[in-house]
Amino acid sequence: MENLFSFNLWHEPWITLEKPDGQMEVLGLEQALKRAHEFRAIYEPSPLVIVGIQRLLIAIVQDICKPQIPSDLRRLWLAGQFDDDKIAQFGATFAHRFDLFSKDEPFMQSADLPMKPDKASETVGYLVDEMPSGTAVTHFKHGSDEIKQLCPVCVAKGMLCVPAFASSGGRGIKPSINGVPPIYVFPIGKTLFESLCQCVLLPAFKPTIAEKENADTPIWKREPLIGRGIEITQVGYLHSLTFLARRIRLQPERVTQVCSRCGAHTEVVVKTMVYEMGESRPKEAAFWQDPFAAFRKQEAKPPIPVRPVVGKVLWRDFNALFLKEGSDTNKKKFLIRPSVLDQLDVEPWIDLFDLDHVQSLRCVGMRTNMKAKIFEWLDINFDVPLALLVDKNGGIQVGRAIECAEEGASYIFAIFKKEFNASAKNGERFEKLRQRMRDKYWAALAPSFRIFILALGAAPDRETELYRWVDVVCANALEAFENAAEQVGDDATSLRQRVQGELRCAAELKKLRKKYVPETEQEKTERETKKVKPKKNTRSNK
Ligand SMILES: [Zn+2]
Repeated sequence: MENLFSFNLWHEPWITLEKPDGQMEVLGLEQALKRAHEFRAIYEPSPLVIVGIQRLLIAIVQDICKPQIPSDLRRLWLAGQFDDDKIAQFGATFAHRFDLFSKDEPFMQSADLPMKPDKASETVGYLVDEMPSGTAVTHFKHGSDEIKQLCPVCVAKGMLCVPAFASSGGRGIKPSINGVPPIYVFPIGKTLFESLCQCVLLPAFKPTIAEKENADTPIWKREPLIGRGIEITQVGYLHSLTFLARRIRLQPERVTQVCSRCGAHTEVVVKTMVYEMGESRPKEAAFWQDPFAAFRKQEAKPPIPVRPVVGKVLWRDFNALFLKEGSDTNKKKFLIRPSVLDQLDVEPWIDLFDLDHVQSLRCVGMRTNMKAKIFEWLDINFDVPLALLVDKNGGIQVGRAIECAEEGASYIFAIFKKEFNASAKNGERFEKLRQRMRDKYWAALAPSFRIFILALGAAPDRETELYRWVDVVCANALEAFENAAEQVGDDATSLRQRVQGELRCAAELKKLRKKYVPETEQEKTERETKKVKPKKNTRSNK
């Protein structure tokens, strides 16, 4: 009668993994790690859950391998798969700590809380109010009324989102260790094994203020008790990956029912739980630099994580997320990319790849109102040449390319307003047209940007690639303007405004081009002859 219920995440199958041929298999943590080299990636409709599972796997692999010097990472990679014996050893010591419904040591929960529902119990729906509704931009279902009951697998997935994504929500409910969730960046390899290897960190790339390795306490080494609203002053790296921002206790029931999230029949369901404020760091605590997040820093102010912004395409943050800006140390504003990417250029880790290697990077984030309200998530893959990632000046041209694109956008945006001088009557319609013009402009540039980035990696002369990009931006801006102007109307006034607007656009974009692209000898000669010619003409006409 010790444990009435059991669902052990180490042994029981719950992680869906995709093989290179697209076949799926569902495995527990032990098998997922032992066979990580057989699978391409974790398969899961919610990217937030993928981040949750990935960060748990990273923490376990980190604890098993404990790499200290670059050659440790190299050996790990060259082995081609994780060491079965070491995984078995870890399991022998800690498997019992992965049981969701253990009476005394429940996984990610506080054992002092009741396992039976009482009047303080909350709906289990709080764990999954990020259910996707399946539209193009995936929005979230708000509230948790639809969620009546969850199977053990869905409960586990919901709980794993807490360390990376728990947000603040009034009444003393604070966010998890990274505050309002940043965009998380993960290097992606050809297999799950490779992806995890690239995310295992050497001591130098862990947060500098992290507790020493031997004093670090991931959930499998921590006492299964979480103080209500407890402030944690010393945090280890593995503790941070499994940070329990909520004090939870699941209250399982043995009844055969259908899970509200995945639709599976289950003999054990969770309808209620205790769900309270758990761990947080004191307000005055030093800044925590998550190795998978990027930051912007301005002078003495604490760094601000890069987060999704409404209406802003993610590649505009390309520099901040991935690259080094150059060696200008006098800058007042600077970028801090995820330290997991800094590790990519450590010898001999870097020797494992060819110089023309293109690294896949997956970015996952969710946009909130900075509190508990969640608007949408993003999940985007970028291919970045290694040559660019490891170059200390890799961000110079990319930074200027994005700046140029942003200027192009603001030119056409301003000219559109000025030329069509939206009257109060038509104001709303014009404003919509103008917004749509800007969105289309950014969408049309995206594929060209990918090509530009890949070209930069291999280019002997990156400036020439930048000049090509500037031409693409100008052509794209003019086209976006023309397309939008066409829709204004075909009365005489509109037509006149349209012609004027297009001329003005062309002139402004020419100036923009000049700012980024130096004049060629041929252009210089042409300009000088043009200057001379009109003078002659005016004279002869007189
Ligand atoms: Zn389920």
